[in-house]
Amino acid sequence: MKPAIDLSLCMRTGQCFYLHPGYFKEGADGYPIIIKSLTTESATLKENILDCCPAQAIVFAEQQ
Ligand code: SF4
Repeated sequence: MKPAIDLSLCMRTGQCFYLHPGYFKEGADGYPIIIKSLTTESATLKENILDCCPAQAIVFAEQQ
């Protein structure tokens, strides 16, 4: 599952890259950059990532 970020919702609060640095990093503009996809067995991690975002800007889509 590959996370995506809706930048129209993102408030640049930073929880995603502070709490999950293996999956996100901070870009030069303060918006997160996705650096890694989740494996299919990472359901708990997926929930944790979704829960960390106060703007509900993170979504998951099946990988192509
Ligand atoms: S946690 Fe959500 S609102 Fe905060 S920087 Fe990440 S995507 Fe944006």
